[in-house]
This record gives sequence, structure tokens and C-alpha cells, in this order.
Amino acid sequence: MIRKLSLRIICSLIFSAAICGCGRNPPIYREKRLMMGTYAEITASDKRALDLGFTELKRLEALLSKYDPESEIFKLNIQGKAKVSPDTRDILQKAVYFYRLTDGAFDITVAPLVELWGFKDGNYRLPEPQQIERALSLVGSDKINFVKDDFVVEFLVSGMQVDLGAIAKGYAVDCAAAKIRAAGITSGLINLGGHIYAIGRNGNQPWRVGVRKPDKKGIARAIKLTDSAVATSGDYEQFFVSGAKRYSHIIDPRTGYPAVTGINSVTVVAADCLTADALATGLFVLGQKKAQDLVRGLPGVQIWIIQNDVYRSQ
Ligand code: AMP
Ligand code: MG
Repeated sequence: MIRKLSLRIICSLIFSAAICGCGRNPPIYREKRLMMGTYAEITASDKRALDLGFTELKRLEALLSKYDPESEIFKLNIQGKAKVSPDTRDILQKAVYFYRLTDGAFDITVAPLVELWGFKDGNYRLPEPQQIERALSLVGSDKINFVKDDFVVEFLVSGMQVDLGAIAKGYAVDCAAAKIRAAGITSGLINLGGHIYAIGRNGNQPWRVGVRKPDKKGIARAIKLTDSAVATSGDYEQFFVSGAKRYSHIIDPRTGYPAVTGINSVTVVAADCLTADALATGLFVLGQKKAQDLVRGLPGVQIWIIQNDVYRSQ
């Protein structure tokens, strides 16, 4: 029997509740709204940051949602070819960059596999090997074509689709931070379901963010951020159990099966939230050794991996 568990919202709540503004002059303005399927919380020293940030997050959600029939990503997925905005082209190109950087472990064209395993609609199932083979023929970000000097994007294989679930929140957080900064605001924290960017400092201290232990009470670690970002990917966020096996929402695009590397969560700190978001997912798929090897060559990136955590022996 398949047991359904979806902890994404719970995790993001825990994450945002774990934030503490511990500076001597803590910011006064803080607001939380439901957005992009999770909670967005903005904290800042200037009230204008709240509206600026939430408006920008909303704008990005309207462009990038895979569920909204009006979004550019929805149209691209249906038509296989679309003229898109600079933002949509930018995030797609960055996604392809991380596909190459991670040797295909991070791949937004994993969408048909995400759907096949039931992670799109919550109707979880174990696909037949032939179904996985068929879906795999639609996977590979090298089959996304960007028409030169234009904003037209096209899929080279009919039936391909993209899923920006592993990168859109990080991108949106970066865009919101840029809007807030452009208004001359120099201190703030944006948290979109655990995808966090810290603008400047909290009073005279760095911002402090607590990362919860997977499925346990307590903080795994406190991270200090100043003009930097953090994101976490974990197998506890969304998964189902069938027989004695646990199947997580992060799929290995090279095999077509949910990634199993012994990793429970990867937390990434980087200069921007898109990088932290994309790497957290990609490194989860790569496994500890390859993840550490890759990160050694990436200046400014720090990672923490929780591996073979006891909570799995449920
Ligand atoms: P995250 O929580 O950022 O790790 O993103 C996970 C989500 O990204 C999943 O729910 C899928 O929608 C999608 N996804 C799953 N596997 C991959 C992958 N290997 N590369 C990119 N996106 C993925
Ligand atoms: Mg991610």
C-alpha cells in the first residue's frame, strides 16, 4: 500500500519559525503570505520592502507556475515552443547552466518523470519500467533550444515539459531582493518556503537562520547570512512509502527513479538564492562524494549534508 506524506508546507513553516532576528536593532516590519504553494515571509527595516517584495514574488509566480494556464511555463509546456519574457528566458538558461554543471543531475526537463511517479497531482504510483523508458526519452535539458537573438524557446522533442520546482523559488527570492535593494533598502530577509536571501545585516549583526533537523525537534545548525542565500533540499519534504521503500520527489533524471544516495538533506549557502536552490537539488541527486568534489570548485558555496538520518527507520 502506498502511504502519502507531504511535508513541504510543514517544513517551510518550521524553517521560517526558526528565523531569529537577534541583532541589537531588530527590524520592525514582518509579514507572511501564502505564495508559490508555500509561505513567503519578508522581514525588513523599511515598511516599503514588504509590498515591493510580495509584488515581485507574485509577478514571478504568474510567469513560472506549471499549474496556471496563463503562465509562460504552462504555455511552453503545452505548445513546445513559445515567445517568453526576459525573466523566463533567464531562468531557463540558468537552469541549463546547472544541468551542465551537475552532469545532468539537475534537470528541469524531469517533468514527465515527476508526473509519472505522481508527484505532480499527489496520486503516487510505482511506474512500469517501460513507462519510465518512455518518459526518459523526453528528458534532457540539452534538448531545449534558445533561438538566437530572440526570446523564443523551443523543445527539440515533442512532448517534453519543464518543471521549475527546484529553481523558481530561489529565482523569485533573488528578484524580490533586487527590487527591495533598488529602492535603497539595505536590510531585510526574504524567506520563501525555506529559500532565503539576507539583504545586508540585521542591525549590526549578520542575519541568523536556523535549519531544522529533518522530522525532529531542534535546530541542526544556525547559519549566519549577510548578502547571501540559503536553500535546503530533502527527501522528507514530499515522499511516499511503498512496501519497505521510500520514494522521494527528487528524481534522478539519468535513471528515471527517485534519487537514493543515502542523503536526507543538503543545505547550500551561496551568493544568490537561485544557485543555492538549484545546487541543493542537484547535489542531492549526485550524492555526498560527488557533491563535495563539485563544490570544492565553486567559490563562495558552502554545503551541509545530513546522511542516513535515524528518522528514516520509522
Ligand atoms: P527542491 O525542493 O528545490 O529540491 O525541488 C524539488 C522539485 O523539483 C520536485 O518536487 C520536482 O518538481 C523537481 N525535481 C525533481 N527532481 C529534479 C531534478 N533532478 N532536477 C530538477 N528538478 C527536479
Ligand atoms: Mg532546489
